[in-house]
Amino acid sequence: DCKLPLSITPYYLSLIDPFNPEDPLRRAVVPTMAEIGLNPGEADDPLGEDQHMVAPGLVHRYPDRVLFLATGFCSTYCRYCTRSRLVGAHGNGHHYGRADMEKALSYIENTPSVRDVLISGGDPLTMSDERLEWILSRLRRIKHVELVRIGTKAPVVLPQRITADLTRMLKRYHPLFVSIHFTHPTELTAEATRACERLADAGIPLGSQTVLLKGINDEVEVMKELMHRLLKARVRPYYLYQCDPIRGSAHFRTTVSKGLEMIQGLRGHTTGYAVPTFVIDAPGGGGKVALYPETVIGRRGSELLLRNYAGNVYSYPDNGGGQGVLLS
Ligand SMILES: *Cc1c(COP(=O)(O)O)cnc(C)c1O
Ligand code: SF4
Repeated sequence: DCKLPLSITPYYLSLIDPFNPEDPLRRAVVPTMAEIGLNPGEADDPLGEDQHMVAPGLVHRYPDRVLFLATGFCSTYCRYCTRSRLVGAHGNGHHYGRADMEKALSYIENTPSVRDVLISGGDPLTMSDERLEWILSRLRRIKHVELVRIGTKAPVVLPQRITADLTRMLKRYHPLFVSIHFTHPTELTAEATRACERLADAGIPLGSQTVLLKGINDEVEVMKELMHRLLKARVRPYYLYQCDPIRGSAHFRTTVSKGLEMIQGLRGHTTGYAVPTFVIDAPGGGGKVALYPETVIGRRGSELLLRNYAGNVYSYPDNGGGQGVLLS
């Protein structure tokens, strides 16, 4: 039961040290025997997306926003991909047809509660400018769609995709946000940084999404370096994901406490903008659940005992400003 095809762009391959089998980028994109088989707790669709599929490629889980999987194609496949059941061979390796897209668009048109559409896949920036613009213009014609977002890895694996033509087109569809899938600090080459800058110069707010991966980015120093380089490239860290229990991903998965350790190592120790939100996408379709390191260590009467980033304890008079006792 073969799942993801192997595909790596020549550019991304050039970032990998061919003599180091433990190279972090190599581990993320080159298959190994470890991905064969189903480990305890794993499933093909752990997030229950298929249950929330309201039209071909359209996942409606939260009341006010939808996930529009516009293509099953990526230029580079990540071995831990949450949607490995839909991308590559399982997604016919190709884009959804016009008729399927019409069904998804008409669902959005007929659902006024949808104010935010997240175009993802696969990688939507593997589609032509024309096809992408067709989707964007159709969405923009829908009055209740306030916000459009694109989730992509193109600036990381195919930075030359971010052309002047593309950004000129995208800026006609504001407010448009782009979330970029980054994994490791070495991905922030001059080329990738320039690709992000071109998007930012088009007025597009950029966020990052990173999957926490064992032996790849699960050390505070590596994670911090990634977050710092993202900010320098004008990308605001958005989500850090616990690796979803998809089939054959056990070798990538850390414990949840590892993720909390990452956040603990960032919050207060560096720029607040450099701290993403650590989330678990709840198995069964519960959506994203944010986790935070424990900062409230208890109460003393109405006082709240707080632990700061350095481990020191402070008390806060949590009396809502009321029941004041005049002290003099
Ligand atoms: C992640 C996700 C979204 C967007 O979530 P935000 O927290 O708003 O970024 C929407 N729909 C689905 C199904 C998702 O998995
Ligand atoms: S770029 Fe995204 S959709 Fe494509 S293989 Fe990687 S994680 Fe999956």
